[in-house]
Amino acid sequence: MKQYLRFIPFYVLVIGLILGLALWGDRAVTAMAENQPVPDRLCILVDAGHGYPDGGAVSCTGVHESVINLQISQRLDKLLGLLGYRTRMLRTGPDSVYTEGETIARKKISDLKERVRLVNGEEEAILLSIHQNHYSDSRYGGAQMFWADTEGSEALAKALQTAFVTNLNPGSSRQAKQATGIYLLEHIQCPAVLVECGFLSNPEEEARLRSPEYQKQISCVIACALSQFLSNT
Ligand SMILES: [Zn+2]
Repeated sequence: MKQYLRFIPFYVLVIGLILGLALWGDRAVTAMAENQPVPDRLCILVDAGHGYPDGGAVSCTGVHESVINLQISQRLDKLLGLLGYRTRMLRTGPDSVYTEGETIARKKISDLKERVRLVNGEEEAILLSIHQNHYSDSRYGGAQMFWADTEGSEALAKALQTAFVTNLNPGSSRQAKQATGIYLLEHIQCPAVLVECGFLSNPEEEARLRSPEYQKQISCVIACALSQFLSNT
């Protein structure tokens, strides 16, 4: 199959989104969601994982995961805003969101507690936590979703996983899984999915994950899958 043919579903998605925006502006989601109004109270919380002094995984070219997480989160936040959603980013700069702590370990604890406080402070929310994966074997690639043990999380994670495989990772056999041992996901009350966008240990995928084009595609896939999910619930 010619290379470009693999991306046809993605192009259709993007063209649909652009057409929707051009025709209906911030009511595009309403149209995409088959006349379901955008919920006013709902806040989409975009969590850029890690942050200084915790850089997360380090890519095969030496880029910290926290940098790529923030870039993708900023793109996703802007796109969701364009589509009419109320959004909030838990981390807006390079630093993690700790409020106290002298040591790195204590800052990390403070950071996690603060993120939980921010999420649980929203009356009606959905949390999307953006991360990048890493593994000792550079062959592995592809996005993978992890759901929290809260109502709606599993279905959203599966919808996002399908969207990633269909549009960005054709042929991937990765499946969404329940998160285990992730403090943030274990302490929040709203639907939540941790999105591992790809592997920083895979040179080909790492180059894509650093590129603005692929970051835009990821944001687009997440935003479209989320709006479709909300229209079905
Ligand atoms: Zn991470």
